[in-house]
Amino acid sequence: MSVNGKPKLAMYWAAACGGCEISVLNIGEHILTVDEVFDLAFFPCIADFKTVDVRGYPDGYIDVCLFNGAIRNSENEEMARLLRKKSKILVAYGSCAYEGCIPALANLTSKEATLETVFLNNPTIDNPDRVLPQPAYSVPEGELEIPEFYHTVKALDQVVDVDYYIPGCPPEPHQVWAVLQVVVAALLDGAPLPPKGSIVGAGDVAVCEECPLEKREKTITRFYRPYEITPQPGLCLLEQGLVCLGPATRSGCGALCPQVGMGCRGCYGPLPGVEDQGAKMLSAIASVIDAGEAGMEEAELDRVIEEAVATIPDPAGTFYRFSMAHSILRRANDSQSDKV
Ligand code: SF4
Repeated sequence: MSVNGKPKLAMYWAAACGGCEISVLNIGEHILTVDEVFDLAFFPCIADFKTVDVRGYPDGYIDVCLFNGAIRNSENEEMARLLRKKSKILVAYGSCAYEGCIPALANLTSKEATLETVFLNNPTIDNPDRVLPQPAYSVPEGELEIPEFYHTVKALDQVVDVDYYIPGCPPEPHQVWAVLQVVVAALLDGAPLPPKGSIVGAGDVAVCEECPLEKREKTITRFYRPYEITPQPGLCLLEQGLVCLGPATRSGCGALCPQVGMGCRGCYGPLPGVEDQGAKMLSAIASVIDAGEAGMEEAELDRVIEEAVATIPDPAGTFYRFSMAHSILRRANDSQSDKV
């Protein structure tokens, strides 16, 4: 609990990799300002807080909570509900909390298939008794419980009300600092906050708009994986056959990946007004495919396009790598879709 009246800051990770925490620490010397301005109320990655501490706080005690990670199990959901209750401002921080990100790619399969892959059919697993995690298990000392593993991975706002979104996998440090400055000005000087529901710490145009690589409206007949070609410097990667989600992705990162020869993965999420990032990217992909010559038979045209698209491995994982939970698809349709 605070002893000096400073605003309270919390950061929590649910189904995430830890990169979001690092992105906050990555703001360099500004972290000293964060330390000066805020009291930490909960930040398990860097300080020894327990859930019971948070339960003891009055509702709304935490001024700002940066919640990263998707909702993949019952513990994630319980913490999301608890931190929503205890926080004035709840921020979906990073791609997993914002739109599901890599964990939500598991929505392309089932809970059972995921557990089998990880615990039974993995070449590095030694599990001769084929034991799978059990939510509850009795031992002589009593009942042991672990969180329930959900069938469908959700974004934070599919479970609780969210005030703001900071995209990125992880968010870029300069964007993190820009957002924290706005929050500090609001908390200390009463400056206005952006409208609820805003996506903050990002641009509102496509990554292509901030990418310095030159587009020449060149078309291609196939795609390549990054290890298969060395792209020509200075030229658009997509027009060289490297899948780049720049046309369908919100700016704000500074187009860092394309500038080092790696196509944009799409981690800043869909453009403003675009509901489905993958669908938007499919139309961008279609526009660079060399669709043959005038007068070509329709069947031949279909074949050319199909051959070009077939060179993209794992299209669902490529176009929905970050946005599956919020996409129109949301998850693969299977017999268990009505489960949690
Ligand atoms: Fe857009 Fe990617 Fe081409 Fe850059 S490399 S202009 S981000 S498609």
